[in-house]
Amino acid sequence: VQDYLTEIEKQKELNAFLEVFTESVLEQAQQVDEKIKSGTAGRLAGVVIGIKDNLCYKGHKVSASSNILHGFESLFTGTAVQRLIDEGAVIIGRLNCDEFAMGSSNETSAFGTVKNPLDPSKVAGGSSGGSAAAVAAGLCTASLGSDTGGSIRQPASFTGTYGLKPTYGRISRHGLIAYASSFDQIGPFTNSLEDTALLLQIMAGKDAYDSTASSREVPAYMDGALPSKIKVAVLKESFETKGIDPEVVSTTEAIIADLRSKGHEVELVSFPYLDYVVPAYYVLTTAEASSNLSRFDGVHFGYRSPDAKGVEETYKKSRSEGFGKEVKRRIMAGTFVLSHGYYDAYYTKAQKVRRVLQTKTDEIFRSYDFILLPTTPSTAFEQGGVKDPIQMYLQDIFTVHANLTGHPALSIPFGNHSNGLPFGIQIIGKPFDENGLLNFAAYLE
Ligand code: GLN
Repeated sequence: VQDYLTEIEKQKELNAFLEVFTESVLEQAQQVDEKIKSGTAGRLAGVVIGIKDNLCYKGHKVSASSNILHGFESLFTGTAVQRLIDEGAVIIGRLNCDEFAMGSSNETSAFGTVKNPLDPSKVAGGSSGGSAAAVAAGLCTASLGSDTGGSIRQPASFTGTYGLKPTYGRISRHGLIAYASSFDQIGPFTNSLEDTALLLQIMAGKDAYDSTASSREVPAYMDGALPSKIKVAVLKESFETKGIDPEVVSTTEAIIADLRSKGHEVELVSFPYLDYVVPAYYVLTTAEASSNLSRFDGVHFGYRSPDAKGVEETYKKSRSEGFGKEVKRRIMAGTFVLSHGYYDAYYTKAQKVRRVLQTKTDEIFRSYDFILLPTTPSTAFEQGGVKDPIQMYLQDIFTVHANLTGHPALSIPFGNHSNGLPFGIQIIGKPFDENGLLNFAAYLE
């Protein structure tokens, strides 16, 4: 813990941590030491973990990187975090992210951008930029993030780390500040597949506090079992994406060639829906966000405008002053698509698109074990480099698919671009086949 604390201080300019829990982490470490002596230490004894600033940890501040939660402290610890602690993990601090996890570059945080440890002029990705940067820079052994449309996989790709978005419902969302509840999943950032498997093993499983958490049994992850002939679908249209980096394409092609040479079946499958995933995602997530974020009213949580008089003005002023620009944009978009007269044209339509995507993806999985595609169209971009919100939304073109359908998806570091930056390759698996994902990823390495 001391080593990590020193390292965090040294690399402060990355802006990965919003707060270091110096006192409580040392206390936790001491308790773990006692347990090790008495032989009762858990599977994560002394493992140092950072958590995204949208995960509740009792007695500690949590802000979702927003001014509206100024001063707010968690009243309970979320299930995923608690399960890690129960196995002896120590929580070193909370990590910077986009405000309410809305963004792809960590630039919407009220507390500044996170720098990419591999090139500080570049973004670390988002929304879990701090979680990715901290693991890449060696400021903690592993971290937790949340992934609504790619917020674990995209920053993992940009920082050369492993990022897993489990199947919707595999890990309880209890204690995760909601962005879009039917999309959100908690997942780990690590430096190895083994660590990813272990953290998932511990966090996964049913939970009385989240009715969407699956009661399906949690298998032993990464058991090595793979079919002798692996069947992989590659989405043809992903290579035709506008602006995709040629080296991302060639790396994916090289993986395909290698798998084929080993006797596996890899086929290009047409998935002519790629143009619809980002629009459907933004209609549905903004709708859910507008509803989820209505609780931040200046009365119940965090910030209250000091000069507001009366209830109405308190709501208006607190929300106007407390939320940042991107969050306001999404609340307005979400309120619009849910409003009378537009609901059918936008919200209902997007739900139908979601259903089509689910059906078509299930069809692919009837013939294939995995879908393989890039995680991101490019390597990490310049800070301030993507100004247009629509351009920023298109960063998620390869990642939102798995959130719309609920499938598990894993990004592993694979490419070394000639510009010196890493990028990831993404595998999507059958629902609840995280084991297959991890085994296949290990085989690819
Ligand atoms: N970049 C996407 C968005 O802004 C994804 C965010 C996330 O996964 N939390 O919505």
